[in-house]
Amino acid sequence: MSAATATDWELVVGLEVHVELSTRTKMFCACPTDFGGAPNTRVCPVCLGQPGSLPVANRGAVESAIRLGLALGSEIAPTSQFHRKNYFYPDMPKNYQISQYDVPLCSGGVLEVPDGQGGSKRVGITRVHMEEDTGKSLHVGGSGRIHGADHSLVDYNRAGIPLLEIVSEPDLRSAEEARAYLAELRAIVLALGISDARLEEGAMRCDANVSVRPRGGEPGTRCEIKNLNSLRSLGRAIEHEAERQVALITAGEAVQQQTRHWDEDAGRTQLLRTKEATEDYRYFPDPDLVPLEPDQTWIDQLAADLPELPAATRTRLAELGVPAEAARTIVAAGLTPVLDAALGEGADPVEAANWLTNEVAGWAGERGLEPAEVPLAGADLAELIALVAEGTLSKKLAREVLEGTLAGEGSPRRVASDRGLEQISDTGALEAVVDQVIAEQPDAAQKVRDGNDKAIGALVGAVMKATQGKANPQLVNELLRSRLSG
Ligand code: ADP
Ligand code: MG
Ligand code: ZN
Repeated sequence: MSAATATDWELVVGLEVHVELSTRTKMFCACPTDFGGAPNTRVCPVCLGQPGSLPVANRGAVESAIRLGLALGSEIAPTSQFHRKNYFYPDMPKNYQISQYDVPLCSGGVLEVPDGQGGSKRVGITRVHMEEDTGKSLHVGGSGRIHGADHSLVDYNRAGIPLLEIVSEPDLRSAEEARAYLAELRAIVLALGISDARLEEGAMRCDANVSVRPRGGEPGTRCEIKNLNSLRSLGRAIEHEAERQVALITAGEAVQQQTRHWDEDAGRTQLLRTKEATEDYRYFPDPDLVPLEPDQTWIDQLAADLPELPAATRTRLAELGVPAEAARTIVAAGLTPVLDAALGEGADPVEAANWLTNEVAGWAGERGLEPAEVPLAGADLAELIALVAEGTLSKKLAREVLEGTLAGEGSPRRVASDRGLEQISDTGALEAVVDQVIAEQPDAAQKVRDGNDKAIGALVGAVMKATQGKANPQLVNELLRSRLSG
């Protein structure tokens, strides 16, 4: 390959995404999947791989996998199989992972990735298959990574939790496209309600396969990058990895197929292992599990019952006048149900979308919550908007009221009254304050009388201060003007 400038290079990316399903029980046993148990308390002979135990596939997990396959336009296999993927690692008690191999449950499909300019790019889906999660190792001492640790502990609570692996075709051409793909896949998963898809907590994990090639040329050798637990790391890792590969090739060296670890702090990828070949895993059909043969009527029913998917939601919101950016934020955050409930209570769509994107998403972010976890009923949002529209609350007071409602103090009307935050829109109550302020600030008052309109600001401010911000500013303005005009 001849030396070339960076602009001659084309980036090729394919993503492998793992999604932890939020079923009540594990993939092949009845152990609960909820977080937070003491280590090794959510385990049984099946997920610990003890002799004589027999796995049985979780119907709910299979249903989630089929629904995602249908949402992506995949072919649902009438017969598919579970295979054992054999390798040793301490976090995997059986020494093999139950996965799918040559006959996955879902094959093919397309993800329409929004390009941010109103269009979209079609990214091929290779397959969606089912597997089980591993346990978690905890390295004690040193930096918390295995190298330099004093000892390691292992917790099998996560071992056996159902996972979907969604493999894309190498159709992505930039870090930005890869991020948009992951965000859209996450929004689909949230719309289907099959996982909480938290990237930071590992409920959604992404490996990026990255290669570079001269534009239009033969595909290059790819490296697989692990440990990408945010959209930001995904983008940074791809860009960094592409630069590393271009530098190698430009220097006359070959890119080796490797698995690399993204180091977020150092901002670079590091060699984890030279890529293992599929043969190394000695895949063979799991003799303990019958083939999956989902009934066609079941599949048809699941297809008919699919919810509205993100692209359709965004289109619907656009038709209601919601700006594209706000619609994207709401859909990506999984806030559509709250918005729809508020609309059902008669809220104005644009107002409701503004409150959700400007206030609610921020409130969640400050507390490390997913927006969808925000304890806000659509009816409360609608009531808040109504209180502003009828003049009971200013926007500013409404923000305070929202805080109260989110803190569990009750409906907005209740919080406004309990906290004494209603806006004063009563002319009689405000006239006295207005007169007092005019008396206290004769110079400013005279300026307004002389036609200096800007001088009124100081007077409005004084009235607002005297009423602890509760006066209706528009009414204060009108009262001051009428007092000072004659
Ligand atoms: P493996 O088991 O080696 O990870 P998979 O089939 O699970 O293989 O995934 C292969 C991934 O690599 C897919 O996401 C695919 O799109 C991607 N890929 C294949 N060829 C290339 C390439 N030349 N450059 C970048 N990604 C690639
Ligand atoms: Mg892989
Ligand atoms: Zn178990």
